[in-house]
Amino acid sequence: MAYKISDDCIMCGACAGECPVGAISEGEGKYVIDADTCIDCGSCASTCPVGAPNA
Ligand code: SF4
Ligand code: SF4
Repeated sequence: MAYKISDDCIMCGACAGECPVGAISEGEGKYVIDADTCIDCGSCASTCPVGAPNA
């Protein structure tokens, strides 16, 4: 199960820099996680100021 970013995302970009496999990119209105690349490490969730990424 890959992590997913909810609509709570405020597009700060912090998570993208923390992802060890580069799975996070800027989408329309929020950042998005590529499910095939995500290794479920949880770094994005612990970095996000608004708790948008969830398992
Ligand atoms: Fe990247 Fe880890 Fe978040 Fe998956 S859980 S998107 S690998 S930081
Ligand atoms: Fe969105 Fe959170 Fe990532 Fe910032 S850290 S871009 S608010 S998901």
